[in-house]
Amino acid sequence: MSSVATPGSVSLVGAGPGDPDLLTVQAIKAIRRATVLLVDGLVGAGVLRYARRSTRIVHVGKRGGCKSTPQAFIHKLMVAEAQRGETVVRLKGGDPFVFGRGGEEAEHLRAAGIAVQVVNGISSGLAAATALGVPWTHRDHAHGVLLLTGHAGEANAELHWPTLGAAAQGLTLVVYMAMQRLAVVQAGLATTLSADIPAALVKNASTDQERRLLSELGRLVEDAAASQMRSPAILIVGNVLAACRNRNRSATATAPGDELQVQCLPGSGT
Ligand code: SAH
Repeated sequence: MSSVATPGSVSLVGAGPGDPDLLTVQAIKAIRRATVLLVDGLVGAGVLRYARRSTRIVHVGKRGGCKSTPQAFIHKLMVAEAQRGETVVRLKGGDPFVFGRGGEEAEHLRAAGIAVQVVNGISSGLAAATALGVPWTHRDHAHGVLLLTGHAGEANAELHWPTLGAAAQGLTLVVYMAMQRLAVVQAGLATTLSADIPAALVKNASTDQERRLLSELGRLVEDAAASQMRSPAILIVGNVLAACRNRNRSATATAPGDELQVQCLPGSGT
């Protein structure tokens, strides 16, 4: 097929952590405008209800029941569809520019001369903290926040844990893709941070599958295994979690059968 004279466009749109109510108005407008939707695995199913019936929906993520699509193929597909004049929306979990390769996609599209728009979404790390009822940056506990990936990527090969740990003093650490190398992350952080610093895992934040585990750095892997925490999960480490201690009592009082996994830190009094 020959390409149309006026190329279409691609929007990299943050679909938020899962709950469709956490979509931005801009995201909803973009989804409604789309003629082609390329959907990542971590995009909540409810988000797609904003698409028009005529919109072509292509799942390119692992968790949509399909195999993960190679990144190079996604790049080509975005360019090809835009060059055919389609209004392409690339729906990505959380925020498109917080991990998840949105940066690479934008670069590739710009290099191909395709107009790119980026629509922010609520990142899962933020939703995870909110699920725990703590802010990233409570002024009594943290003067900043550090976003990390637990995944062994190119950049991670260079990660020097003692340097990172030293820089992380007094900060809240938010680790994406935490489960793949949880033991490595725990051991790495433990080179500098104390074993009893609070640590929490939140799986499927903001969805009805949400699970939370409150632990501490020194026994994180053990607790995660015991409560069968799996991906997709965010790890949060830092003293902001101390605020969870008091709330633990009410959290453990949820209805029987509830999947919520909350463990009390030593000294929490429960
Ligand atoms: N751009 C995304 C992150 C993509 S990396 C964002 O801003 O959220 C993929 C990782 O995000 C997963 O391995 C997991 O660590 C995290 N993640 C995505 N959705 C999540 C959710 N609902 N709950 C917990 N973690 C989630």
